[in-house]
Amino acid sequence: MKILVRFDDICPTMDFAQFKRATDLLDKYEVKPLIGVIPDCKDPDLDIEKPHEDFWEFVKGLQAKGYTIAMHGYQHVFNSDHKGIVTNRIGSEFAGHPLNVQIEKIKKGKDILEFHGIYTDIFFAPAHSYDENTIKALAENGFNYMSDGKSNAPYMWFGVKLMPDRNSGCPRIRHSNLYTAVFHAHEWVRPDKEYGYRELQSLLSQHSANIVVWNDFAQVSCGNFTLQRINERCYCFYEQKLKPVLVKIKRELEKFSIWK
Ligand SMILES: [Zn+2]
Repeated sequence: MKILVRFDDICPTMDFAQFKRATDLLDKYEVKPLIGVIPDCKDPDLDIEKPHEDFWEFVKGLQAKGYTIAMHGYQHVFNSDHKGIVTNRIGSEFAGHPLNVQIEKIKKGKDILEFHGIYTDIFFAPAHSYDENTIKALAENGFNYMSDGKSNAPYMWFGVKLMPDRNSGCPRIRHSNLYTAVFHAHEWVRPDKEYGYRELQSLLSQHSANIVVWNDFAQVSCGNFTLQRINERCYCFYEQKLKPVLVKIKRELEKFSIWK
């Protein structure tokens, strides 16, 4: 079993105090995560602190201690009303935009990172929202990996290796081979999201032996493209369409004490 720990929404105006809580815990367990850096963040939800002037040095410092850097979108703005191919949420920075627009966004993001001395061939999209053109645009810009998708094994698409991220949060570790545990440290100040820190604590304390660095995680062999695409579609259908109905039915049955 391999578990990847991923932190999203790293930008100059993030909540640095919350992120420090995360890095302190990661240091304690000597875990090196994948972190998603937003090249030119324009998302008002992430405008939490005054821009840190030393942000890019800070990122390079994390890289020097073994963290892996991914590019997380371009500006983290949801300016398309498409859902993307694996999410059910309307609003995307990439999905629905024409290929040339997506190529341009990814190029601009990559140029900013490289201007600051950060080189990466790993990408993941804001809100897990992407489409076929996103993969083509990544290939066009020399990206080799994406951390997203709902397949149960990695697969190659237009030369980009899609590493699955089925849970889009901290997963319950059971019997699967691959898990991506996703955290948003800036949300931990919210009463309804403070459990995220406890989830990280519990994941690290119980499963640190299975937590691997990106290079190890990304070496997992690819599955068959067609089978993995079908697997991904089925999983999305179950999670987004079927499961909500089943949960509703179960709740109704519980009301009548038929199912407890
Ligand atoms: Zn994000």
